[in-house]
Amino acid sequence: MTTETAPQEFTFQAEISQLLHLLSHSLYQNKEIAIRELVSNASDALDKFRHISLTQKEFGDDARLEISLEPDEENRVLTIRDNGIGMTHDELIQNLGTIAHSGSLEYLKKLGEGAKDDVSLIGQFGVGFYSAFMLADRVEVLTRSYQEKSGWRWESDGSGQFTIEPAEGLERGSQIRLHLKENLTEFTQTTRLKHILTEYSTFVPYAIRLGEEHVNDQTPIWVEPKSQVTDEQYKNFYGYLSKRTHEEPLWHLHLTSDSPFQFHALLYCPATNFELMGFGKDEHGLSLCAKRILVQNNCRELLPEYLRFIYGLVDSADLPLNVSRQALQDDTVFRKIRKVLVKKVLNHLEGIAKDSPEGYAKFYEQFGTTLREGVASDFENRDTLAKLLRFRSSHGDDRKAIISLDDYVSRMPEDQKQIFYVSGESLATIEKNPNLEAFRSRNLEVLYLIDPVDEFVLNHVHKFEDKELVSIDSSEVDLPELESSADAEDGEASDEKKSGPPAGFGTVLNLFREALGDSVEDVRESKRLTNSACCLVNPEGAMSAQLQKVMSRASDDFQLSKRILEINPKHPLVEHLASLSANDEHTEFIKTCGQQFFANAMLAEGVVPDPYETSQRMMGFMQELAQQRSPVAGT
Ligand code: ADP
Repeated sequence: MTTETAPQEFTFQAEISQLLHLLSHSLYQNKEIAIRELVSNASDALDKFRHISLTQKEFGDDARLEISLEPDEENRVLTIRDNGIGMTHDELIQNLGTIAHSGSLEYLKKLGEGAKDDVSLIGQFGVGFYSAFMLADRVEVLTRSYQEKSGWRWESDGSGQFTIEPAEGLERGSQIRLHLKENLTEFTQTTRLKHILTEYSTFVPYAIRLGEEHVNDQTPIWVEPKSQVTDEQYKNFYGYLSKRTHEEPLWHLHLTSDSPFQFHALLYCPATNFELMGFGKDEHGLSLCAKRILVQNNCRELLPEYLRFIYGLVDSADLPLNVSRQALQDDTVFRKIRKVLVKKVLNHLEGIAKDSPEGYAKFYEQFGTTLREGVASDFENRDTLAKLLRFRSSHGDDRKAIISLDDYVSRMPEDQKQIFYVSGESLATIEKNPNLEAFRSRNLEVLYLIDPVDEFVLNHVHKFEDKELVSIDSSEVDLPELESSADAEDGEASDEKKSGPPAGFGTVLNLFREALGDSVEDVRESKRLTNSACCLVNPEGAMSAQLQKVMSRASDDFQLSKRILEINPKHPLVEHLASLSANDEHTEFIKTCGQQFFANAMLAEGVVPDPYETSQRMMGFMQELAQQRSPVAGT
């Protein structure tokens, strides 16, 4: 008599079906990455079990934790077996039926768009298991969870469904049985498998058996003296930690310390930042070991969030092993190690910035955005972080060049008290900002902030070397008087400068005020403009225009603060309006001009004034101009 019931059938989450279709039809040559992914999953399962056996004694046993690859050439099956944590029925559905990780959907989208090479990144996006379908047309997972007495058999041909049924007689852990595609018999050949394992899995911290042989060497290079580790070994270990076998890291940092506490650390900075490519937050954490044995994978608490791009491993004998994640974070040694790591990383970055500005620029281009977050969150290291910031600036001819606050300060004239910055959507908009005129004519350097985050960051820095950081559109800007330039302007010209605004200018300002009413804080004479007719500045204490724009986009409730419209009394149009103001007939015209001045000032900053009113007004001006012309030539 049998108690057999039909296997339960399930449907994959839609995205997985898509992924499976892509993978099983993939022409991607590098199929061995699937082995890497499955071995790495087995290794993770062993890590998890080790942690449980250390913290919950009732689950511990003496079995040696290991991974084995069992090729069966005759039946064209390759089994990857581990005696790790295993999976329950629900975990099978959860882990091998849905996509949990945030970055993975974007990754899949990119794959769908035909980014071939990205297949190799599969492991980073929490969908590594499915790469099995690159090799197999049918995959079985036989597994028993450490919590259960009997296990389960999961099976799928990768077409959209999978089945689960009970399975008896299984040891703890998982076996992934790949029923290889017809032309892929090579994956049952020992030499081929051995080659793959030495390439990708040398550093897996558990024995990997292939037949009777142990194939991985497990050298913990992080405890070796630096002088004995080759570049090749450093690079391979990076590939193992990051699964980015196709790229070299930008730099690595190998640290060893014996007192006051003992630890080894090997940290790597990747060459590219996936966050910039829209893959969501890339928080992989570090591997935490105690006496060479992995205690925790993805330990995010060892570095602050703003250094989340770093891959690495930290090994310390002084850490308590058998405690929960929370207790570990509260441990004094843990906190001290973290502090040292942060300092060392920041010092290393300072070193690169000093010794190789191009190298640092490369780093900053990728990870500057992430690093900057530290200015707001890491008070202790704020000064160091401020020195690591980079900006475009008005200095020099190379528009791409980036400079540090130190560079800026070193070029400041003695009497300059503030550090000036301007933000805008692009270099092109910034360069046309009329507010800059005053700074150009005085030869004052201005930092160009293209990313709105930079302004938040500078607000947090607040002061650098005792110099206040001020947005150029703030009325707090302290501009030195414009000296009549050295190359001999004659006495007349400087007289003219002193002569002040033209007659009627006051009336113009009053008419503008009347016309604009509540839409502006005030209308006043500008001391900063040289060429443009007008610009907007911020009243004291207000956020800069760009920051306000960002805030108002983020929240509907955000109230833009009123601006001050500054008028250049030397501008020919303004002079003309001033003379017209003597005649009451022109009052309405001047007021309409005032409204257009305001609209133009907004446009110059990339802000859209009321489109209907503005275009109507422009129509009116054109109408008037047209009426003054005659259809007859020469009149
Ligand atoms: P990731 O490993 O990045 O989470 P995968 O698609 O490779 O993504 O695996 C999904 C999940 O399936 C894993 O997180 C893990 O919970 C589970 N899993 C995969 N392989 C095994 C295994 N050999 N033993 C136990 N659980 C496993």
